Amino acid sequence: MLKGVETARLLEVVAEQAYNAVLITDADMAGGGPFIVYCNPAFCRMTGYERSELLGRSPRLLQGPETDRTVIDSLRQGLKQQQFWEGSTVNYRKDGQSYVVNWNISPVLGNDKCVTHFVSMQQDITARVRAEAERDMLIQALNRAHDPVLVTDREARIVFANAAFESLTGYQAAEVTGKTPALLGSGEQSADFYREMWEALDNNQSFQARFINRRKDGSRYYVEQSIAPVVNHLGSRTHFISTSWQVDELVEREKALHTMATQDKLTGLLTRRAGDDALYNAHHEHLAKARPLSTIICDIDHFKAVNDTFGHLAGDRIIQHIARLIDQQARSGDPAIRWGGEEFLIVLQANHAAAMGLAERLRRAVEQMQDAEVGQVTLSLGIAEMLPGESIEQLLGRADGALYRAKRSGRNRIMSGAGN
Ligand code: GH3
Ligand code: MG
Ligand code: MG
Repeated sequence: MLKGVETARLLEVVAEQAYNAVLITDADMAGGGPFIVYCNPAFCRMTGYERSELLGRSPRLLQGPETDRTVIDSLRQGLKQQQFWEGSTVNYRKDGQSYVVNWNISPVLGNDKCVTHFVSMQQDITARVRAEAERDMLIQALNRAHDPVLVTDREARIVFANAAFESLTGYQAAEVTGKTPALLGSGEQSADFYREMWEALDNNQSFQARFINRRKDGSRYYVEQSIAPVVNHLGSRTHFISTSWQVDELVEREKALHTMATQDKLTGLLTRRAGDDALYNAHHEHLAKARPLSTIICDIDHFKAVNDTFGHLAGDRIIQHIARLIDQQARSGDPAIRWGGEEFLIVLQANHAAAMGLAERLRRAVEQMQDAEVGQVTLSLGIAEMLPGESIEQLLGRADGALYRAKRSGRNRIMSGAGN
Protein backbone atom coordinates (compact mmCIF):
# COMPACT_ATOMS: atom_id res chain seq x y z
CA MET A 1 0.00 0.00 0.00
CA LEU A 2 1.11 3.51 -0.74
CA LYS A 3 1.30 6.01 2.04
CA GLY A 4 -0.92 9.09 1.85
CA VAL A 5 1.93 11.45 0.96
CA GLU A 6 3.21 9.10 -1.73
CA THR A 7 -0.28 8.75 -3.23
CA ALA A 8 -0.71 12.52 -3.38
CA ARG A 9 2.64 12.89 -5.14
CA LEU A 10 1.78 10.18 -7.71
CA LEU A 11 -1.67 11.57 -8.35
CA GLU A 12 -0.17 14.95 -9.00
CA VAL A 13 2.13 13.40 -11.61
CA VAL A 14 -0.92 11.73 -13.18
CA ALA A 15 -2.79 15.02 -13.35
CA GLU A 16 0.26 16.83 -14.73
CA GLN A 17 0.68 14.33 -17.52
CA ALA A 18 -2.99 13.66 -18.35
CA TYR A 19 -4.11 14.29 -21.91
CA ASN A 20 -7.36 15.71 -20.63
CA ALA A 21 -7.51 19.11 -19.06
CA VAL A 22 -7.92 19.00 -15.25
CA LEU A 23 -9.17 21.93 -13.25
CA ILE A 24 -9.69 22.19 -9.50
CA THR A 25 -11.51 25.11 -7.89
CA ASP A 26 -12.41 25.95 -4.36
CA ALA A 27 -16.03 25.87 -3.31
CA ASP A 28 -16.49 29.60 -2.76
CA MET A 29 -19.93 30.08 -4.26
CA ALA A 30 -20.70 33.34 -2.50
CA GLY A 31 -17.76 35.66 -3.03
CA GLY A 32 -17.49 35.65 -6.83
CA GLY A 33 -15.94 32.18 -6.98
CA PRO A 34 -15.34 29.35 -7.17
CA PHE A 35 -11.70 30.21 -7.85
CA ILE A 36 -9.09 28.12 -9.60
CA VAL A 37 -6.66 26.44 -7.25
CA TYR A 38 -5.10 24.00 -9.70
CA CYS A 39 -4.94 23.38 -13.45
CA ASN A 40 -2.77 20.96 -15.36
CA PRO A 41 -0.61 21.61 -18.45
CA ALA A 42 -3.31 20.13 -20.72
CA PHE A 43 -5.72 22.77 -19.38
CA CYS A 44 -3.16 25.49 -20.14
CA ARG A 45 -2.66 24.11 -23.66
CA MET A 46 -6.40 24.06 -24.23
CA THR A 47 -7.01 27.62 -23.01
CA GLY A 48 -3.73 29.28 -24.02
CA TYR A 49 -3.24 30.72 -20.51
CA GLU A 50 -0.21 30.25 -18.28
CA ARG A 51 -0.99 28.53 -15.03
CA SER A 52 0.00 31.68 -13.12
CA GLU A 53 -2.62 33.63 -15.08
CA LEU A 54 -5.35 31.22 -14.02
CA LEU A 55 -4.68 30.50 -10.39
CA GLY A 56 -6.96 32.52 -8.12
CA ARG A 57 -9.22 33.49 -11.05
CA SER A 58 -12.77 32.34 -11.74
CA PRO A 59 -13.25 29.99 -14.72
CA ARG A 60 -15.70 32.63 -15.95
CA LEU A 61 -12.77 34.28 -17.69
CA LEU A 62 -13.09 31.53 -20.30
CA GLN A 63 -16.67 32.43 -21.15
CA GLY A 64 -17.71 34.71 -24.00
CA PRO A 65 -20.52 35.74 -26.35
CA GLU A 66 -21.28 32.26 -27.64
CA THR A 67 -21.12 30.57 -24.27
CA ASP A 68 -24.47 28.96 -23.64
CA ARG A 69 -26.03 30.71 -20.62
CA THR A 70 -28.46 27.90 -19.94
CA VAL A 71 -25.53 25.47 -19.66
CA ILE A 72 -23.74 27.78 -17.24
CA ASP A 73 -26.92 28.25 -15.17
CA SER A 74 -27.39 24.52 -15.03
CA LEU A 75 -23.76 24.16 -13.97
CA ARG A 76 -24.14 26.63 -11.09
CA GLN A 77 -27.30 24.84 -10.08
CA GLY A 78 -25.38 21.58 -10.01
CA LEU A 79 -22.57 23.07 -7.98
CA LYS A 80 -25.01 24.51 -5.44
CA GLN A 81 -26.64 21.15 -5.05
CA GLN A 82 -23.21 19.56 -4.78
CA GLN A 83 -23.99 17.07 -7.51
CA PHE A 84 -21.93 15.52 -10.28
CA TRP A 85 -22.52 17.59 -13.40
CA GLU A 86 -21.65 17.20 -17.04
CA GLY A 87 -22.18 19.42 -20.08
CA SER A 88 -20.66 21.23 -23.01
CA THR A 89 -20.56 24.74 -24.41
CA VAL A 90 -18.37 27.22 -26.25
CA ASN A 91 -15.44 28.76 -24.34
CA TYR A 92 -12.69 31.16 -25.37
CA ARG A 93 -8.94 30.83 -25.35
CA LYS A 94 -6.70 33.66 -24.23
CA ASP A 95 -6.19 34.66 -27.89
CA GLY A 96 -9.96 34.98 -28.30
CA GLN A 97 -10.41 31.87 -30.38
CA SER A 98 -13.46 29.87 -29.44
CA TYR A 99 -13.51 26.15 -28.73
CA VAL A 100 -16.16 23.64 -27.74
CA VAL A 101 -15.52 22.10 -24.36
CA ASN A 102 -17.12 19.10 -22.79
CA TRP A 103 -16.57 18.85 -19.08
CA ASN A 104 -17.73 17.24 -15.87
CA ILE A 105 -17.48 18.46 -12.33
CA SER A 106 -17.42 16.44 -9.13
CA PRO A 107 -17.71 18.01 -5.68
CA VAL A 108 -15.01 16.94 -3.20
CA LEU A 109 -16.07 16.63 0.44
CA GLY A 110 -13.83 17.56 3.38
CA ASN A 111 -13.68 15.83 6.77
CA ASP A 112 -16.73 17.74 7.95
CA LYS A 113 -18.74 16.51 4.95
CA CYS A 114 -18.75 19.99 3.47
CA VAL A 115 -17.70 20.57 -0.11
CA THR A 116 -14.19 21.98 -0.14
CA HIS A 117 -13.39 21.76 -3.86
CA PHE A 118 -14.70 20.96 -7.26
CA VAL A 119 -12.66 18.76 -9.60
CA SER A 120 -13.31 19.15 -13.29
CA MET A 121 -12.10 17.07 -16.23
CA GLN A 122 -12.35 18.87 -19.53
CA GLN A 123 -11.98 18.00 -23.16
CA ASP A 124 -11.72 20.16 -26.28
CA ILE A 125 -14.27 18.58 -28.62
CA THR A 126 -14.16 21.29 -31.31
CA ALA A 127 -12.78 18.97 -34.00
CA ARG A 128 -15.34 16.28 -33.22
CA VAL A 129 -18.25 18.74 -33.19
CA ARG A 130 -17.04 20.29 -36.42
CA ALA A 131 -16.66 16.83 -38.05
CA GLU A 132 -20.13 15.86 -36.88
CA ALA A 133 -21.61 19.11 -38.20
CA GLU A 134 -19.86 18.56 -41.52
CA ARG A 135 -21.10 14.98 -41.67
CA ASP A 136 -24.66 16.11 -40.84
CA MET A 137 -24.43 18.77 -43.53
CA LEU A 138 -23.20 16.24 -46.10
CA ILE A 139 -25.90 13.74 -45.20
CA GLN A 140 -28.52 16.45 -45.40
CA ALA A 141 -27.16 17.57 -48.76
CA LEU A 142 -27.22 13.99 -50.06
CA ASN A 143 -30.73 13.54 -48.78
CA ARG A 144 -31.84 16.74 -50.49
CA ALA A 145 -30.23 15.62 -53.75
CA HIS A 146 -32.71 14.61 -56.40
CA ASP A 147 -30.66 11.64 -57.62
CA PRO A 148 -30.14 8.35 -55.78
CA VAL A 149 -26.79 8.00 -54.02
CA LEU A 150 -25.42 4.79 -52.57
CA VAL A 151 -22.18 4.31 -50.64
CA THR A 152 -20.75 0.86 -50.01
CA ASP A 153 -17.68 -0.31 -48.19
CA ARG A 154 -14.91 -1.96 -50.18
CA GLU A 155 -16.65 -5.33 -49.89
CA ALA A 156 -19.63 -3.68 -51.64
CA ARG A 157 -21.81 -3.72 -48.52
CA ILE A 158 -24.12 -0.73 -48.39
CA VAL A 159 -23.22 1.77 -45.68
CA PHE A 160 -25.32 4.71 -46.85
CA ALA A 161 -28.36 5.25 -49.05
CA ASN A 162 -29.98 8.66 -49.49
CA ALA A 163 -33.64 9.61 -49.50
CA ALA A 164 -33.85 9.65 -53.32
CA PHE A 165 -32.61 6.03 -53.32
CA GLU A 166 -35.35 5.13 -50.86
CA SER A 167 -38.08 6.73 -52.91
CA LEU A 168 -36.83 5.24 -56.19
CA THR A 169 -36.35 1.68 -54.96
CA GLY A 170 -38.93 1.40 -52.20
CA TYR A 171 -36.24 0.13 -49.84
CA GLN A 172 -35.53 1.94 -46.56
CA ALA A 173 -31.85 2.74 -46.05
CA ALA A 174 -31.90 0.69 -42.83
CA GLU A 175 -33.08 -2.46 -44.58
CA VAL A 176 -30.37 -2.39 -47.26
CA THR A 177 -27.52 -1.40 -44.95
CA GLY A 178 -25.01 -4.24 -44.79
CA LYS A 179 -26.38 -5.84 -47.96
CA THR A 180 -24.85 -5.54 -51.42
CA PRO A 181 -26.46 -3.65 -54.32
CA ALA A 182 -26.89 -7.04 -55.99
CA LEU A 183 -30.31 -7.07 -54.33
CA LEU A 184 -31.36 -4.51 -56.96
CA GLY A 185 -30.25 -6.73 -59.84
CA SER A 186 -32.88 -7.63 -62.41
CA GLY A 187 -30.94 -10.59 -63.78
CA GLU A 188 -31.24 -8.95 -67.19
CA GLN A 189 -27.60 -7.99 -67.46
CA SER A 190 -24.91 -10.34 -68.64
CA ALA A 191 -22.00 -11.72 -66.64
CA ASP A 192 -19.80 -9.81 -69.10
CA PHE A 193 -21.42 -6.56 -68.02
CA TYR A 194 -20.53 -7.14 -64.36
CA ARG A 195 -17.08 -8.45 -65.26
CA GLU A 196 -16.38 -5.22 -67.12
CA MET A 197 -17.66 -3.23 -64.15
CA TRP A 198 -15.40 -5.01 -61.65
CA GLU A 199 -12.44 -4.76 -64.00
CA ALA A 200 -12.76 -0.96 -63.98
CA LEU A 201 -13.41 -0.72 -60.23
CA ASP A 202 -10.55 -3.07 -59.37
CA ASN A 203 -8.28 -0.72 -61.30
CA ASN A 204 -9.63 2.18 -59.21
CA GLN A 205 -11.40 3.57 -62.26
CA SER A 206 -14.98 4.71 -62.29
CA PHE A 207 -17.60 2.80 -64.24
CA GLN A 208 -20.59 4.31 -65.98
CA ALA A 209 -23.36 2.37 -67.63
CA ARG A 210 -27.08 1.88 -67.92
CA PHE A 211 -28.37 -0.53 -65.29
CA ILE A 212 -31.62 -2.44 -65.44
CA ASN A 213 -32.66 -2.80 -61.81
CA ARG A 214 -35.60 -3.96 -59.76
CA ARG A 215 -37.44 -2.15 -57.00
CA LYS A 216 -38.50 -3.80 -53.76
CA ASP A 217 -41.89 -4.50 -55.35
CA GLY A 218 -40.19 -6.25 -58.27
CA SER A 219 -40.91 -3.59 -60.87
CA ARG A 220 -38.13 -2.75 -63.29
CA TYR A 221 -36.41 0.62 -63.63
CA TYR A 222 -33.55 1.97 -65.69
CA VAL A 223 -30.75 4.17 -64.38
CA GLU A 224 -27.63 5.68 -65.82
CA GLN A 225 -25.26 4.90 -63.01
CA SER A 226 -21.77 6.03 -62.23
CA ILE A 227 -19.77 4.06 -59.66
CA ALA A 228 -16.47 5.41 -58.40
CA PRO A 229 -14.00 3.92 -55.93
CA VAL A 230 -13.20 6.12 -52.93
CA VAL A 231 -9.49 5.95 -52.20
CA ASN A 232 -7.86 7.08 -48.94
CA HIS A 233 -4.63 9.07 -48.60
CA LEU A 234 -2.64 5.81 -48.61
CA GLY A 235 -4.08 4.91 -52.00
CA SER A 236 -6.20 2.03 -50.77
CA ARG A 237 -9.84 1.68 -51.65
CA THR A 238 -12.18 2.17 -48.71
CA HIS A 239 -15.59 2.68 -50.32
CA PHE A 240 -17.53 2.89 -53.54
CA ILE A 241 -19.94 5.70 -54.27
CA SER A 242 -22.65 5.33 -56.83
CA THR A 243 -24.79 8.11 -58.19
CA SER A 244 -27.52 7.45 -60.67
CA TRP A 245 -30.31 9.12 -62.51
CA GLN A 246 -33.46 7.49 -63.62
CA VAL A 247 -33.87 7.12 -67.38
CA ASP A 248 -37.17 5.20 -67.60
CA GLU A 249 -38.74 7.90 -69.75
CA LEU A 250 -35.71 8.04 -71.98
CA VAL A 251 -35.72 4.24 -72.37
CA GLU A 252 -39.45 4.28 -73.16
CA ARG A 253 -38.89 6.96 -75.77
CA GLU A 254 -35.96 5.05 -77.24
CA LYS A 255 -38.06 1.90 -77.41
CA ALA A 256 -40.92 3.79 -79.08
CA LEU A 257 -38.53 5.32 -81.60
CA HIS A 258 -36.96 1.93 -82.24
CA THR A 259 -40.38 0.36 -82.78
CA MET A 260 -41.34 3.22 -85.06
CA ALA A 261 -38.17 2.79 -87.09
CA THR A 262 -38.28 -0.99 -87.32
CA GLN A 263 -41.93 -2.03 -87.22
CA ASP A 264 -44.32 -1.05 -89.96
CA LYS A 265 -47.34 0.63 -88.43
CA LEU A 266 -49.99 -0.79 -90.77
CA THR A 267 -48.84 -4.41 -90.87
CA GLY A 268 -46.46 -5.00 -87.96
CA LEU A 269 -43.91 -6.41 -90.41
CA LEU A 270 -40.35 -5.05 -90.51
CA THR A 271 -39.92 -1.64 -92.11
CA ARG A 272 -37.73 -1.32 -95.16
CA ARG A 273 -34.99 0.19 -93.01
CA ALA A 274 -35.04 -2.75 -90.57
CA GLY A 275 -35.30 -5.03 -93.59
CA ASP A 276 -32.02 -3.68 -94.93
CA ASP A 277 -30.37 -4.60 -91.61
CA ALA A 278 -32.00 -8.03 -91.66
CA LEU A 279 -30.71 -8.63 -95.20
CA TYR A 280 -27.22 -7.56 -94.19
CA ASN A 281 -27.25 -9.91 -91.18
CA ALA A 282 -28.62 -12.83 -93.20
CA HIS A 283 -25.91 -12.26 -95.82
CA HIS A 284 -23.31 -12.26 -93.08
CA GLU A 285 -24.61 -15.58 -91.72
CA HIS A 286 -24.73 -16.95 -95.27
CA LEU A 287 -21.05 -16.15 -95.80
CA ALA A 288 -19.87 -17.13 -92.32
CA LYS A 289 -21.77 -20.39 -91.99
CA ALA A 290 -22.28 -21.31 -95.65
CA ARG A 291 -26.04 -21.30 -95.16
CA PRO A 292 -28.29 -20.96 -98.22
CA LEU A 293 -30.03 -17.62 -98.60
CA SER A 294 -33.11 -16.91 -100.71
CA THR A 295 -35.48 -13.98 -101.17
CA ILE A 296 -39.11 -13.80 -102.23
CA ILE A 297 -40.53 -10.50 -103.50
CA CYS A 298 -44.31 -10.34 -103.78
CA ASP A 299 -46.61 -7.64 -105.11
CA ILE A 300 -50.40 -7.54 -105.00
CA ASP A 301 -51.99 -7.81 -108.44
CA HIS A 302 -54.05 -4.92 -109.84
CA PHE A 303 -54.01 -3.20 -106.48
CA LYS A 304 -54.68 0.24 -107.95
CA ALA A 305 -58.04 -1.10 -109.02
CA VAL A 306 -58.81 -2.26 -105.45
CA ASN A 307 -58.14 1.25 -104.17
CA ASP A 308 -60.05 2.87 -107.00
CA THR A 309 -63.10 0.64 -106.64
CA PHE A 310 -63.34 0.08 -102.88
CA GLY A 311 -61.35 2.97 -101.45
CA HIS A 312 -58.09 3.33 -99.62
CA LEU A 313 -59.33 1.84 -96.33
CA ALA A 314 -60.38 -1.39 -98.06
CA GLY A 315 -56.92 -1.39 -99.71
CA ASP A 316 -55.28 -1.06 -96.31
CA ARG A 317 -57.32 -3.94 -94.97
CA ILE A 318 -56.17 -6.19 -97.84
CA ILE A 319 -52.52 -5.22 -97.22
CA GLN A 320 -52.95 -6.08 -93.52
CA HIS A 321 -54.57 -9.38 -94.29
CA ILE A 322 -51.86 -10.46 -96.73
CA ALA A 323 -49.16 -9.34 -94.27
CA ARG A 324 -50.79 -11.61 -91.67
CA LEU A 325 -50.70 -14.54 -94.08
CA ILE A 326 -47.00 -13.88 -94.80
CA ASP A 327 -46.26 -13.68 -91.09
CA GLN A 328 -48.04 -16.99 -90.49
CA GLN A 329 -46.38 -18.83 -93.38
CA ALA A 330 -42.79 -17.61 -92.95
CA ARG A 331 -40.58 -19.24 -90.30
CA SER A 332 -40.17 -17.03 -87.25
CA GLY A 333 -36.44 -16.58 -87.86
CA ASP A 334 -36.98 -15.49 -91.44
CA PRO A 335 -37.55 -11.74 -91.67
CA ALA A 336 -40.76 -10.58 -93.38
CA ILE A 337 -40.53 -7.01 -94.60
CA ARG A 338 -43.00 -4.47 -95.96
CA TRP A 339 -40.73 -3.57 -98.83
CA GLY A 340 -42.98 -0.95 -100.43
CA GLY A 341 -46.66 0.08 -100.51
CA GLU A 342 -48.16 -3.29 -101.44
CA GLU A 343 -44.89 -5.10 -101.94
CA PHE A 344 -43.35 -7.56 -99.50
CA LEU A 345 -39.95 -9.19 -99.14
CA ILE A 346 -39.22 -12.43 -97.31
CA VAL A 347 -35.62 -13.36 -96.51
CA LEU A 348 -35.09 -17.08 -95.97
CA GLN A 349 -32.18 -19.05 -94.63
CA ALA A 350 -33.15 -21.71 -97.12
CA ASN A 351 -32.45 -22.91 -100.66
CA HIS A 352 -34.41 -22.29 -103.82
CA ALA A 353 -36.64 -25.33 -103.39
CA ALA A 354 -37.73 -24.32 -99.90
CA ALA A 355 -38.34 -20.76 -101.09
CA MET A 356 -40.45 -22.12 -103.94
CA GLY A 357 -42.47 -24.15 -101.41
CA LEU A 358 -43.20 -21.13 -99.25
CA ALA A 359 -43.98 -18.94 -102.27
CA GLU A 360 -46.53 -21.46 -103.54
CA ARG A 361 -48.19 -21.78 -100.11
CA LEU A 362 -48.46 -18.01 -99.96
CA ARG A 363 -49.77 -17.63 -103.50
CA ARG A 364 -52.48 -20.18 -102.76
CA ALA A 365 -53.39 -18.71 -99.35
CA VAL A 366 -53.90 -15.25 -100.91
CA GLU A 367 -55.84 -16.69 -103.80
CA GLN A 368 -58.14 -18.46 -101.35
CA MET A 369 -58.59 -15.43 -99.12
CA GLN A 370 -62.00 -13.81 -99.57
CA ASP A 371 -62.53 -10.25 -98.41
CA ALA A 372 -66.23 -9.58 -97.67
CA GLU A 373 -66.15 -6.38 -99.72
CA VAL A 374 -63.29 -6.78 -102.20
CA GLY A 375 -63.60 -10.50 -102.79
CA GLN A 376 -60.55 -12.25 -104.21
CA VAL A 377 -57.10 -10.73 -104.71
CA THR A 378 -53.98 -12.41 -106.06
CA LEU A 379 -50.26 -12.13 -105.55
CA SER A 380 -47.34 -12.35 -107.97
CA LEU A 381 -44.01 -13.56 -106.63
CA GLY A 382 -40.39 -13.59 -107.74
CA ILE A 383 -37.78 -15.73 -106.01
CA ALA A 384 -34.02 -16.00 -106.16
CA GLU A 385 -31.42 -18.00 -104.23
CA MET A 386 -28.09 -16.34 -103.65
CA LEU A 387 -25.36 -17.50 -106.01
CA PRO A 388 -21.70 -17.75 -104.97
CA GLY A 389 -20.03 -14.33 -104.99
CA GLU A 390 -23.30 -12.48 -105.52
CA SER A 391 -24.12 -9.20 -103.77
CA ILE A 392 -27.40 -8.48 -102.00
CA GLU A 393 -28.27 -5.95 -104.71
CA GLN A 394 -27.71 -8.55 -107.43
CA LEU A 395 -29.85 -11.09 -105.57
CA LEU A 396 -32.69 -8.58 -105.13
CA GLY A 397 -32.34 -7.55 -108.77
CA ARG A 398 -32.86 -11.13 -109.93
CA ALA A 399 -35.88 -11.62 -107.61
CA ASP A 400 -37.33 -8.32 -108.88
CA GLY A 401 -36.76 -9.40 -112.46
CA ALA A 402 -38.58 -12.66 -111.73
CA LEU A 403 -41.51 -10.74 -110.22
CA TYR A 404 -41.68 -8.56 -113.32
CA ARG A 405 -41.85 -11.68 -115.49
CA ALA A 406 -44.56 -13.17 -113.24
CA LYS A 407 -46.62 -9.99 -113.79
CA ARG A 408 -46.01 -9.96 -117.50
CA SER A 409 -46.93 -13.61 -117.96
CA GLY A 410 -50.35 -13.24 -116.36
CA ARG A 411 -49.96 -12.56 -112.56
CA ASN A 412 -50.98 -14.88 -109.67
CA ARG A 413 -47.82 -16.91 -110.28
CA ILE A 414 -44.23 -17.47 -109.21
CA MET A 415 -41.10 -16.97 -111.27
CA SER A 416 -37.47 -17.72 -110.46
CA GLY A 417 -34.62 -15.30 -110.98
CA ALA A 418 -32.25 -16.04 -113.83
CA GLY A 419 -29.58 -18.54 -112.79
CA ASN A 420 -31.81 -20.37 -110.26
P1 GH3 B 1 -49.77 -4.70 -110.69
O1 GH3 B 1 -50.64 -5.90 -110.75
O2 GH3 B 1 -48.97 -4.48 -111.88
O3 GH3 B 1 -48.91 -4.70 -109.47
O4 GH3 B 1 -50.78 -3.50 -110.61
P2 GH3 B 1 -51.02 -2.54 -109.44
O5 GH3 B 1 -52.26 -1.82 -109.63
O6 GH3 B 1 -50.93 -3.26 -108.12
O7 GH3 B 1 -49.82 -1.58 -109.65
P3 GH3 B 1 -48.78 -1.07 -108.64
O8 GH3 B 1 -48.19 -2.21 -107.90
O9 GH3 B 1 -47.83 -0.18 -109.37
O10 GH3 B 1 -49.70 -0.16 -107.70
C1 GH3 B 1 -49.51 -0.02 -106.35
C2 GH3 B 1 -50.66 0.73 -105.78
O11 GH3 B 1 -50.76 0.44 -104.40
C3 GH3 B 1 -50.50 2.20 -105.90
C4 GH3 B 1 -50.86 2.74 -104.56
O12 GH3 B 1 -51.95 3.63 -104.64
C5 GH3 B 1 -51.27 1.55 -103.74
N1 GH3 B 1 -50.75 1.60 -102.42
C6 GH3 B 1 -49.47 1.70 -102.07
N2 GH3 B 1 -49.38 1.73 -100.70
C7 GH3 B 1 -50.64 1.66 -100.23
C8 GH3 B 1 -51.19 1.66 -98.92
O13 GH3 B 1 -50.51 1.72 -97.92
N3 GH3 B 1 -52.54 1.58 -98.80
C9 GH3 B 1 -53.33 1.50 -99.89
N4 GH3 B 1 -54.63 1.42 -99.71
N5 GH3 B 1 -52.84 1.52 -101.12
C10 GH3 B 1 -51.52 1.60 -101.30
MG1 MG C 1 -46.39 -2.47 -106.53
MG1 MG D 1 -49.22 -4.29 -107.47
